[in-house]
Amino acid sequence: SLTLGIVGLPNVGKSTMFNALTRNDVLAANYPFATIEPNVGVVPLRDPRLDRLAEMFSSEKIVPATVSFVDIAGIVAGASEGAGLGNKFLANIREADAICQVVRVFADDDVVHVDGRVDPAADIETIATELVLADLQTIEKALPRLEKEARVKKETKAAVDEIAHAQSVLNEGRTLFSAGLDSPRLRELNLMTVKPFLYVFNADEPVLTDDARRKELAELVAPAEAVFLDAKVEQELLELDDESALELLESIGQPEPGLDALARAGFRTLGLQTYLTAGPKESRAWTIRIGATAPEAAGVIHTDFQKGFIKAEIVSYDDLVAAGSMNAAKTAGKVRMEGKDYVMQDGDVVEFRFNV
Ligand code: GDP
Repeated sequence: SLTLGIVGLPNVGKSTMFNALTRNDVLAANYPFATIEPNVGVVPLRDPRLDRLAEMFSSEKIVPATVSFVDIAGIVAGASEGAGLGNKFLANIREADAICQVVRVFADDDVVHVDGRVDPAADIETIATELVLADLQTIEKALPRLEKEARVKKETKAAVDEIAHAQSVLNEGRTLFSAGLDSPRLRELNLMTVKPFLYVFNADEPVLTDDARRKELAELVAPAEAVFLDAKVEQELLELDDESALELLESIGQPEPGLDALARAGFRTLGLQTYLTAGPKESRAWTIRIGATAPEAAGVIHTDFQKGFIKAEIVSYDDLVAAGSMNAAKTAGKVRMEGKDYVMQDGDVVEFRFNV
């Protein structure tokens, strides 16, 4: 499955957040056979729609979708110069599908900042610079060979132009993602900064409740998404019952656990969405990429469902809830039969028809 790699400077709260991410009982209950690697945090994507469906269908259980985060340890500054740990750091990032940077915003004199001051913009720049430099090295290695090939092979000329353009963007110190560049060709080169970025601002109450400051930080990283949370509080929440947890969140001006927002943002950053199934056994969210067709969606349940796909019986969640039951939705003409070209929409409640 797709993963987000967690990166950040030392002492920004990565371990604290990662510990909070890896502690969830939901997963143990629903995925008893999943082997979970120690450096992977699998987080449920909380979805109140599943609770409602479970009620309607008297489902025995609820199975949410999940998002995986990989803890990428290692040095950051100087990584592109290829010191041993730096190489490993970059290799781990190459394996991730998106990059999630934790940025320190919280003030705490007891926690040393590597550069001696809390400066989110500078921290973001430090990591981006290492990745940009590593991508420039990759391109400098690849380009001469491609240029040579372009002299005899016309098709390669377009590749050379595209890669040279990427190089000029990187030379300005910008990531390819922030410049909106992405293509199979750039992906083939295994460049790191084409991957989508997501930023987690680890902040305390004064910042979490300061809309203007949050907006400023969010603008700093756009078009990447920004999530604001207090990693220390997230860890504390896990020890509390629901009511105390809610109180603690309210005290720092947060409407929900930051990890829930992080899971959603991570999901979007990876280009994923869910569709839903519901029945007496379970109400469940299934993960597909945005733009997936009905047969592709069926294939997530079982490859045979995709191979033998005939039709998908689909009702949108809102229509189903408005009707009150599947039968009522059918009577109201809200249940559609969709064929193999149908592009799945978020919140589709689905039953597949297939040949076995
Ligand atoms: P890492 O090096 O990025 O993994 O950072 P850690 O998670 O080990 O955190 C470094 C220190 O900062 C620890 O003492 C944490 O308790 C503290 N810390 C982490 N998050 C927060 C936070 O949101 N607020 C405050 N005040 N301290 C935090």
